[in-house]
Amino acid sequence: MPSQKSFSIELFPPKTPEAIDELRVTRTRLAELSPKYFSITFGAGGSTQQGTHDIALEIQQEGYEAAPHVTCIGSTRETVRERLNKYRSCGIRHIVALRGDLPSSYGVLGEFRYANELVEFIRAETGDWFRIDVAAYPEMHPQAKSMTDDVDNFVRKVKAGADAAITQYFYNPAAYFRFMENVQAANVSIPVIAGIMPITNYTQLARFSDMCGAEIPRWIRLRLESYGNDLASIRAFGLDVVTELCEQLLAGGAPGLHFYSLNRAAITSEIWKRLGLHEKKAALEPAEEKEIVSA
Ligand code: FAD
Repeated sequence: MPSQKSFSIELFPPKTPEAIDELRVTRTRLAELSPKYFSITFGAGGSTQQGTHDIALEIQQEGYEAAPHVTCIGSTRETVRERLNKYRSCGIRHIVALRGDLPSSYGVLGEFRYANELVEFIRAETGDWFRIDVAAYPEMHPQAKSMTDDVDNFVRKVKAGADAAITQYFYNPAAYFRFMENVQAANVSIPVIAGIMPITNYTQLARFSDMCGAEIPRWIRLRLESYGNDLASIRAFGLDVVTELCEQLLAGGAPGLHFYSLNRAAITSEIWKRLGLHEKKAALEPAEEKEIVSA
């Protein structure tokens, strides 16, 4: 596998002390895969903000690259400045800059409207200290007026100073390649890393996908539905589908893959192994992990 491609993993900050301990074990297993970095999500609504910081710091202190997510919706310039300064003082040099989504009950909109304003602010405040990744949507962000508008808005983030992008997950590689044609036509040449969501739980996947606008192609949906509660069959089929998707993306020129691990090591390790991304025997038995019901 060409070494210049980037393979990385997303984690989210758990809510309980027990889950935080479990994540330390999961992280150790995932670290055996030698990902380029771990990104850590950030709750725009406030619930997991300290968690993002703490996990990023732990990862950094263990000698791995941490890329905390920073969202701007509902935030003031001062709060974002404080977050950036904290990361900077800990030696963190990589962040994922996002607008974020607020729960509808959350009244305060803050001083930023869109992620391009956040990227601009980070560059103005911190120069080239941070590598800044932004989000991209091969199947269009659900709130965008049109694909053309969404691509224009993506280009705005790149012009504001983004170094790379990570996509929302998708199961249709043609959507990624079309998106790349569109952004390349706009003279964008930053790496757009494909976001990969492993399939282990159909109900959860369908719920996520409805929320974030990712399409589960009909043939995949029907097969997954036909398995009912047969988790072993869902997992086996999901592994085949997602591994093939990764192979097609890499063969077609995708500069890397970012795995939405949902804080589980086994499935990401298995795909990693099938793709030949590491030599170590890091694949874990599925029985070692509990099924997750929420992220
Ligand atoms: P933006 O790029 O600002 O786009 C949001 C919408 O506004 C789009 O429809 C876009 O077309 C439109 N738009 C953008 N700029 C303009 C403009 N100037 N004028 C008019 N319209 C515009 N959410 C979290 O809360 N925490 C996380 O940690 C998190 N991590 C994520 C990681 C990845 C890789 C991805 C793909 C998503 C993540 N999200 C996270 C979800 C993300 O916050 C939502 O998808 C959010 O709705 C959009 O964020 P954005 O940064 O893409 O926003």
